[in-house]
Amino acid sequence: MSECIFCKIVAKEIPGKIAYEDERILAFYDLEPQAPVHVLIVPKKHIASLDEAGTEDSELLGHLLGKAKEIAATLGLDNGYRLVINTGEDGQQTVKHLHVHLLGGRKMTWPPG
Ligand code: 5GP
Ligand code: ZN
Repeated sequence: MSECIFCKIVAKEIPGKIAYEDERILAFYDLEPQAPVHVLIVPKKHIASLDEAGTEDSELLGHLLGKAKEIAATLGLDNGYRLVINTGEDGQQTVKHLHVHLLGGRKMTWPPG
């Protein structure tokens, strides 16, 4: 998936400000933060969207979610945070590599726009 921007960040072909990394996932700061803390958490494996994830990815996704709360704690989001997975057209997904937005550091609004 050489044309995928997040695969390139995973491969360190283009820079990303990394918040967390292990063998299966990478967390890096969003270029256009929508909150004081805005980190994207991605599987290193290219999965185009949540809709493309198969049952074989369940453990990977569980790992990612479990790490999301650890990353939130590491970043000091003791008062809460929001996880968002934009999916497909109506979900306004712009980058076609599954990613979880971790947002925090301010009170989130509801409903989102
Ligand atoms: P989506 O709209 O697909 O859910 O979110 C994509 C996110 O990726 C956006 O928040 C956007 O700011 C971020 N983004 C797009 N390109 C880059 C990049 O090259 N580096 C980083 N760090 N973030 C990016
Ligand atoms: Zn990718």
